[in-house]
Amino acid sequence: MSGGFGVPAGSHKARRFLARASFAGWWLPPGIMKKETMSKIKSTAAQKIAGETNPVTIGVLALQGDYAAHARAFASAGARTVLVRKPEELEGLDGLVLPGGESTTMLKFLEKQGFFETLGAFVAATPCFATCAGCILVAREVLHPRQRSLGLLDATVERNAYGRQIDSTILTLPTELPGGPLEMVFIRAPRITRVGPGVRVLAQRDGFPVLVRQGDLLVATFHPEMTSDTRVQQLFLAMVRKHKNGSLRHD
Ligand code: GLN
Repeated sequence: MSGGFGVPAGSHKARRFLARASFAGWWLPPGIMKKETMSKIKSTAAQKIAGETNPVTIGVLALQGDYAAHARAFASAGARTVLVRKPEELEGLDGLVLPGGESTTMLKFLEKQGFFETLGAFVAATPCFATCAGCILVAREVLHPRQRSLGLLDATVERNAYGRQIDSTILTLPTELPGGPLEMVFIRAPRITRVGPGVRVLAQRDGFPVLVRQGDLLVATFHPEMTSDTRVQQLFLAMVRKHKNGSLRHD
C-alpha cells in the first residue's frame, strides 16, 4: 500500500520523509520527492575526518521553518550544531544558517529584543548560509510585496515568484560546484532578479541565479538540506573553516 509519496504509508521511510518535507505546516505536493533522495546516507568518512580534525560550530536560526533539517544536515557533514533562538546565542558561533520557512513570520520574531539589528551585525561579520526565506531576509531589496530585510546580499529578490505551493518542484540543474549538476528542491521559492558585481552566481534556473556567493555569504533559493547531496554544506563548511583559521591567525 503506497502512502502517496513513493514510500509505504506508516513506514520508517515515510515518517522520515514527512518529517523532512513539512515545516510550519506545509507539505510538498505528493510525488515530487525522489525515493533515492531519502535513502542515501548523508555522512561520509571524509566528512567525519574533516569535522574531527577542524571542528566548527554552526548555529541554525530556529525561530521558525525547517531549522531541524539544516541542523541534521550539518551534523552529518561533521559540524557541531546549535539552535539559535535568542540574540545572545549567536555568541561564539563560527557560522550561521538562516533556514527556509516564512520570512514574514521570522521577521516578526526578529523584531523583538533587538534581534534584527544584532543578527545584521553578526551576519555582516561571520560566514552565513541563507536558504529561501533566509535569502529573502539577507537581500538588499525584497519585492512582491516589499518587506524589511537585512540588506547584506547585493541583490533584488522577488518572493513566491514561481507560483503557489502546488508549483513547488524538484529540478536537477548545472552548478559550478565540483561534481556538476545538483538536485534542488524549490518550495514557494523566491527569484533573485538582480545581483550586484560582487556576487558570484554558482547555479541558475531559467537564467535567474539560485545559488550565489558574496564573500562569506552563501545563498540558495532552494533547499539543500532536503536532499542527500551535501556539496553545498561542504562548500559552506570550507568557507567557515577558512574564516575561522584566518581570524585565529589575527587574534
Ligand atoms: N515563500 C516564503 C517566503 O516568502 C519562502 C519559502 C521558503 O523558505 N521555502 O518567505
